[in-house]
Amino acid sequence: MQDERERFLIRYAGDFAPFVVDTAEGAWITTKEGERILDFTSGQISSTLGHNHPKIVEAIQRSLREVIHLNSWMVNDDVLELASRLAALLPDPLVRSMLLNVGSETNEVAFRLAKAYTGEFEMVGLTRSYHGLLAGANSVTFSMGHKGYGPLVPGSFAIPAPYEYRCPIRHCQNACDKLCLDVGFETVDQASVGSLAGMVVEPVLSTGGIIPLPDGYLAAAKQKCEERDMLLIVDEAQTGFGRTGTMFAFEQDGVTPDILTVSKTLGGGVPLGATITSAEIEDRCADNGFMHLTTHVSDPMPAAAGVAVLEVIEEENLVERSAQMGEYLTAQLHELQDLHEEIGCVRGRGLLVGVELVVDRDTKEPASELGAAVTAECLRLGLSMNIVKGDGPQRNCLRMAPPLSITHEEIDTAISILDRAITTCTK
Ligand code: PMP
Repeated sequence: MQDERERFLIRYAGDFAPFVVDTAEGAWITTKEGERILDFTSGQISSTLGHNHPKIVEAIQRSLREVIHLNSWMVNDDVLELASRLAALLPDPLVRSMLLNVGSETNEVAFRLAKAYTGEFEMVGLTRSYHGLLAGANSVTFSMGHKGYGPLVPGSFAIPAPYEYRCPIRHCQNACDKLCLDVGFETVDQASVGSLAGMVVEPVLSTGGIIPLPDGYLAAAKQKCEERDMLLIVDEAQTGFGRTGTMFAFEQDGVTPDILTVSKTLGGGVPLGATITSAEIEDRCADNGFMHLTTHVSDPMPAAAGVAVLEVIEEENLVERSAQMGEYLTAQLHELQDLHEEIGCVRGRGLLVGVELVVDRDTKEPASELGAAVTAECLRLGLSMNIVKGDGPQRNCLRMAPPLSITHEEIDTAISILDRAITTCTK
């Protein structure tokens, strides 16, 4: 089996999983060998309503009977329905959407809009960010190196991410006072050629180590942008649609971005993303000749899935559920922290939770090899989890992002597996 995979597939992320999948339903994946695995990754944080939700399957089947694909200047009812539902869910003035494919593309479009609106081109991101791997998005993705993939888009700047557990400028002891934002913008102002167009941020830096932006950070970032006539772009690829306990994470800071990007959850597992902005911004961009025309813009089939996703989120109260189950998961992890010295920090929002592993809680020395060992042992015991950046030479932060429909029993199962895995790996 491994041979077949290596013969016919490009190894896009190192090794493949040590099994081939047969089916998936709810929070569970079944392998060809009949093994059941509890999926605390929600696929790529996309199957957040659970794998193969019947309503999504039904919507896709209905759409396939009607129309699969159209020339980009034609739209059908599903496209209009999804765009109007997004406008209804979002605060004013975010009313105009462009329906796209993957998260990287939604950010490329956001940057193109910011450039068309401001007439400028420089883009600011946070260290530890992840916005995608297409050229523009990759140039402001600072959670992984760019070695081998240069040159980057000129005018792409990084400012220090507000990683409270390990303050990037070694200034804050307990609560973040956002000095890193001031320091970061001082550096940007010096390096800029005077052509700042936008700043892009994730409300929780997920791939960069599950780092929620501290309270008031988005508001302060928005102010920095306004002072420089830049647009604030919030990337909610992972945090959108309930993941953090509110419909959108930006709501928790009382700030409305100029441009919002969403993807992953929106398609419930099929490629669907959206870039959303105000009528004022969209009008000026259109006047300035804005253009982005990729093959699957406004495709009917993913739009039908998106409408179903939004209906299910409402019908099953998944936003409230995410807040409640997130509290339960976090409480269970804190209990586990009492048992295992290696759990240095448990943090996150809603059902996007990180567990950072350390050698010593006082020095916070990252437990570099333990993260990979624990993740592998969990998988052997039937729990799938990702491991993300944290700190140190290797990744040391476990990411728990189960479907929002997760049950107490399933969380208990995951905690028990994690407990056993840490015990085995630290013996
Ligand atoms: N933004 C964020 C916050 C992400 O987590 C990701 C994917 N991990 C992306 C953008 C890129 O999305 P995609 O891989 O669908 O292009």
